[in-house]
Amino acid sequence: MTAYADFYRQSIDQPDAFWSEQAQLIDWHTPPRQVCDYSNPPFAKWFVGGTTNLCHNAVDRHLATRASQPALVAISTETDSERSYSFAELHAEVQRMAAVLQSLGVKKGDRVLIYMPMIAEAAFAMLACVRIGALHSVVFGGFASGSLASRIEDAEPVAVVSADAGSRGGKVVPYKPLLDEAIALSKHKPAAVLMINRGLAPMHLQPGRDHDWTALREQHLHTVVPCEWVESTHPSYTLYTSGTTGKPKGVQRDTGGYTVALAASMKHIFDAKAGDVYFATSDIGWVVGHSYIVYGPLIAGMTTIMYEGLPTRPDAGVWWSIVEKYKVTHMFSAPTAVRVLKKQDASWLRKYHVQTLKALWLAGEPLDEPTAQWISDALQVPIIDNYWQTETGWPILTLANGVEQQTTRFGSPGKAMYGYHVKLIDESNGEELTAPNQKGVVAIEGPLPPGCMQTVWRDDARFVNTYWKSIPGRLIYSTFDWGIRDADGYHFILGRTDDVINVAGHRLGTREIEESIASHPNIAEVAVVGVADSLKGQVAMAFAVARDASGLDSDAARLKLEGEVMKQVDSQLGAVARPSRVYFVTVLPKTRSGKLLRRALQAVAERRDPGDLTTMEDPAALQQVKDLVG
Ligand code: AMP
Repeated sequence: MTAYADFYRQSIDQPDAFWSEQAQLIDWHTPPRQVCDYSNPPFAKWFVGGTTNLCHNAVDRHLATRASQPALVAISTETDSERSYSFAELHAEVQRMAAVLQSLGVKKGDRVLIYMPMIAEAAFAMLACVRIGALHSVVFGGFASGSLASRIEDAEPVAVVSADAGSRGGKVVPYKPLLDEAIALSKHKPAAVLMINRGLAPMHLQPGRDHDWTALREQHLHTVVPCEWVESTHPSYTLYTSGTTGKPKGVQRDTGGYTVALAASMKHIFDAKAGDVYFATSDIGWVVGHSYIVYGPLIAGMTTIMYEGLPTRPDAGVWWSIVEKYKVTHMFSAPTAVRVLKKQDASWLRKYHVQTLKALWLAGEPLDEPTAQWISDALQVPIIDNYWQTETGWPILTLANGVEQQTTRFGSPGKAMYGYHVKLIDESNGEELTAPNQKGVVAIEGPLPPGCMQTVWRDDARFVNTYWKSIPGRLIYSTFDWGIRDADGYHFILGRTDDVINVAGHRLGTREIEESIASHPNIAEVAVVGVADSLKGQVAMAFAVARDASGLDSDAARLKLEGEVMKQVDSQLGAVARPSRVYFVTVLPKTRSGKLLRRALQAVAERRDPGDLTTMEDPAALQQVKDLVG
């Protein structure tokens, strides 16, 4: 047996021994009594009886050995600034933020919603929350007021931390008006709003509710805020993600299991050591930002780089100039970003010294072979695909090069990671597919390993019904992805089994987009599907039936309504969810029983054969779509 196969087997056959060893990688205030309590499946409690603190493990623990080493470097090519914080400075800033949050009434167990651009204060806020046992709920800065309002309503935060504005491609995006609108829309009203003023956009502070960070920080320059030792099972955060229904789910994560899982992944998957430099180009609004911009690298005593800006501005060499300047050892990005760079001159990559990189990890969406090959040739370092989800918090499939160096196979994210009992399931009968190269649903036998979601925030029933009951006859976690596994254990991901689409690595629920479009007064009905795109992987495409089509007989009129619909999605959900096109049809393709033929619609939109259409009510419906997409 190879070293990794042995390691994996041990994690599945003797999970208690395996994870009890991994638990040694972090500091505990009280050591755990029990490794895993799975007496109430599918709810897993990891490291029961142990008490710890995520912020202690990410920051305080390193003060004795690396206080003056850079911990966080925040680089913005939008504002042309670079700020570096040593572990000692980060420790001080996090305590200031924690003291300010406490002064605003935040206590253990309370939620704090963070709606921020990629600035250092966002990381301070996250670390400050977990320091005092409060749960953060970070909302991606690209989301607009409707998305923000539904998250405020679900999380019921005591406080919101935000900033005057973000910036994208040199264009300032004010956040405060969106936040004010979201609070007005939400039934829940947070008691306090803490605003970081970057001086990018004017903002009005509402007396009594809104507070200025700079002023409050001054009052707490030297306030000491000790870490609150919390139970291992105490939730550290919630992070919302899209699913089949319109309402986003609050993925809830624990403290001890997550800290151990990240520490273990830094060692076994990333082969990282303290003092190394990690540069993840994601955003703190996504799970990669939580696990691999903020917590993972800091837990490992690494320097982490936070980047605000585009990969191509001021030029396509900007990321590689950062790699050279900071001697980055580990880089993490998404296939779409690489496809953007691939359109530029490859000589940008040769201008800089990138040989400090051990590898480039890519995740969030399928990594196509040509893209992997291009970046591999250009960088001359290993390219490592990794597959996981907001729900799992760390990779399900990849290569654990810290355990054993393994060969990358382009097109495959790799092997099942230790702790994940990955199975391919025949959807029709719930049976496991054990022979190689058979297509099935990628599923995970419980308990999910440490670090994965504990439940859906305040909705245990939704957690069980959504994730664990979708496969007939058995309680098993579904990823909602199709996959196959070859004879050597390498997996291939073949797309979602549900109505979730993936645009440039951003996961979006088509239902959410449909709900937003349908709220336009002149839209009677709409279907949104994901359509293959050479740059973004997929784009959302909408097919709508107008309530009153009498004015839609000219291109100009159709374009006007299309523009209105797009604007509505922008203002409710954010530009990330905007469909690439809104086509108007007189009827949507449906079965005789009225069920939307989504797969057929998607196939035609991608100019593929729609397959068997015998159940279709009106064949002319698909012909209209065919004529429109050309
Ligand atoms: P998110 O929760 O936003 O990270 O989205 C998770 C989903 O993105 C997965 O269920 C997959 O559909 C897709 N995904 C993530 N990483 C990969 C990958 N390396 N290859 C293929 N699909 C991926």
